[in-house]
Amino acid sequence: MKYVSTRGGDQKISSAQAIKKGIADNGGLFVPEKIPKLTKKDLGRLAALPYAERAAEILSLYLDDYDKEKLLGFCRDAYKEASFPGGAAPVSELYENAYMLELYHGPTCAFKDMALQIMPRLLSEALKMTGEEKTAYILVATSGDTGKAALEGYRDVEGVKIKVFYPTDGVSDIQKLQMSVQEGDNVSVQGIDGNFDDAQNGVKKIFSDKALNEKLNEAGYILTSANSINWGRLAPQIVYYISAYLDLYNEGRIKMGEKITFCVPTGNFGNIFAGFLASKMGLPVKRFICASNKNNVLTDFFETGVYSRNREFYKTVSPSMDILISSNLERLLYVFTGCEKTRGYMESLSKTGEYRIAPEELAEIRKYFDGGCTGEEATADRIRATWNNCGRLIDTHTAVAADCAARLAGPGEKVVIVSTASAYKFAADVTAALGGTVNYDRGVLSPLYSLAELTKTDIPAPLAALETKRVRFTGSIPKDQMPDSLFD
Ligand SMILES: *Cc1c(COP(=O)(O)O)cnc(C)c1O
Repeated sequence: MKYVSTRGGDQKISSAQAIKKGIADNGGLFVPEKIPKLTKKDLGRLAALPYAERAAEILSLYLDDYDKEKLLGFCRDAYKEASFPGGAAPVSELYENAYMLELYHGPTCAFKDMALQIMPRLLSEALKMTGEEKTAYILVATSGDTGKAALEGYRDVEGVKIKVFYPTDGVSDIQKLQMSVQEGDNVSVQGIDGNFDDAQNGVKKIFSDKALNEKLNEAGYILTSANSINWGRLAPQIVYYISAYLDLYNEGRIKMGEKITFCVPTGNFGNIFAGFLASKMGLPVKRFICASNKNNVLTDFFETGVYSRNREFYKTVSPSMDILISSNLERLLYVFTGCEKTRGYMESLSKTGEYRIAPEELAEIRKYFDGGCTGEEATADRIRATWNNCGRLIDTHTAVAADCAARLAGPGEKVVIVSTASAYKFAADVTAALGGTVNYDRGVLSPLYSLAELTKTDIPAPLAALETKRVRFTGSIPKDQMPDSLFD
């Protein structure tokens, strides 16, 4: 299996090289040349396997340059019970014909763990496979969730060092605490004066600074990134769509071959695109509902065929979906319109902030996708209704999807709502949605205790443990000191 750029050109590389490189030389994203197929018989066979083995089987179709036994070892290690005490990706019933795919049982209580627990193992192996002798130095600029998930995933991984930059005043107190207590010998966390864009631009500058890169090379490092456009983050996400289907089948909720719908709370379009690949492989899917918050650039795109970032940006209670450029949509454009047109659309996006696809292209895409969006008040209402009527606590991102699913699903349509975070990760807003008030007598962690008291539910262990962890990383530096801080 070879990987090509969404923007064309003749660069054709193996999966290990794609994972090491991250982005194609012409600025495009790596996509598999062909999408492998799963037959009904394959699905039946996978149904009998535990999650890690399903993952290894599915990943080996895409990462066919990796040793299959090694992949199995990586999957077993990544998705072990100690890391996912509630199961890697269990499915539960929410109400009749609506199910939740729970992707929040990992070490940081959000779905990014599903990819970031295994991707470091894939990268570390890719370095060996490509004969790389230097240490891979991973730089991340984060507005909160990704940084912590990357730190947890990469800590103490062989051949890798990681540094996360975050805007000192631009992340929540709990997120800051989560990062500042990070354990591991190869990790470092640095607050910077400024906002998220400052952090991100600082990292981009480091990547393009030739002299600095040479200096890092001499010190034994090559720079890489762990962001969501890397194929190594996308591929592991295909697995849980297939796994959810198999679990519903095993429980007798669906017949083999019956089509179901997935409703996905979407930001960068990575999660939902992985689901689309699963359907292209042969998973019986009726449609994908792309759920957005008030930043509904994707809803408009699926409605009109126009993608326009020229609009107001809103800060919402579902911050991981506060995005105006959904980078992974480029991969979908590639599948439906080819590399020439994709290159044109991306040029238009960077020059004018928008592009328009042809009506017949939109019609094809709409055979698979519908868009929906949920505002702030409806998000809070859905959290309250789900708690009152189903006895289930959902976070603000999941609530956006649950709301879209409830409004858009037809009679008898079976919908899997993809649940991307624990409610405790967004405890203050969830508590408010339930009509409670946070009692700030226990410092930064107060919202966790207030939500636990209000609902008589347990704080997830990784968040409860923050109370006793030692703070290792403090302080904030001006952004022009970011390059020097790499050598600390
Ligand atoms: C990252 C994230 C999303 C959005 O996922 P994409 O792959 O960017 O579409 C949704 N919910 C939560 C909680 C997230 O952390």
